Amino acid sequence: MRRRRIYEGKAKVLFEGPEPGTLVQYFKDDATAFNNQKKGTITGKGVLNNRISEFLMTRLEAIGVATHFVRRLNMREQLVREVEIIPLEIVVRNIAAGSLSKRLGIEEGSRLPCSILEFYLKDDALGDPLVTEEHITCFNWAAPQELDEITQTALRVNDFLSGLFLGVGITLVDFKLEFGRLWEEDQMRIVLADEISPDSCRLWDSKTGEKLDKDRFRRDLGNIEEAYQEIARRLGVLPEAGPLDLQGPQTMQ
Ligand code: C5P
Repeated sequence: MRRRRIYEGKAKVLFEGPEPGTLVQYFKDDATAFNNQKKGTITGKGVLNNRISEFLMTRLEAIGVATHFVRRLNMREQLVREVEIIPLEIVVRNIAAGSLSKRLGIEEGSRLPCSILEFYLKDDALGDPLVTEEHITCFNWAAPQELDEITQTALRVNDFLSGLFLGVGITLVDFKLEFGRLWEEDQMRIVLADEISPDSCRLWDSKTGEKLDKDRFRRDLGNIEEAYQEIARRLGVLPEAGPLDLQGPQTMQ
């Protein structure tokens, strides 16, 4: 079946959905890091991220966090509501790692005295720079009330997901969220968009500290597929046939 491709990102493709106001979000096995400088394939990642993101978005909806997620369609696709993406990446951190450790010289693994929220401008050409609330409102990337709502929601998502992961022996170190504007008649509301998966979160085994996320790819740690499978397994969403089921259609060119 031929469908209109609306947008192709690094790890996902968005197609026109079956009804107006919907899109089909297709999860690829492609992985990129360091602003596209490192490229690779993680076999089965798309299948697993589709399930993991479905699970987390559904659980968030259940506690009253509005999301773009409608339903999973098949192994690699989910139906989502079409939103106007706010051009920000919202990062929430509980433990120092990644760019925070690098920028501020804080040892990776130190628990932060309080959770830290950061905003990055979604702009590949600029390398997604860190921006302040003043930049955001001054340049009209989001209105002050929108930013308040995004902040409150991001912190709520952090509380909920930290507990959810802790329950399965995983520490939520940090993660990235994206939000969109959903238009319904004349009303607009802000909803959680994109995905929540080991591509966009740092997830460490609570006992051993083992990294179970995309840092395995970024840092060439090996056993990448196994790490994604382990997250899916702990959340109880590993496809029934297990890893054998994960080949799926090959990456779309
Ligand atoms: O690299 P950094 O430490 O700033 O990343 C913080 C968190 O945001 C990590 O969980 C990372 O996976 C996520 N992130 C992302 N997409 C980006 C940048 C960061 O999902 N473009």
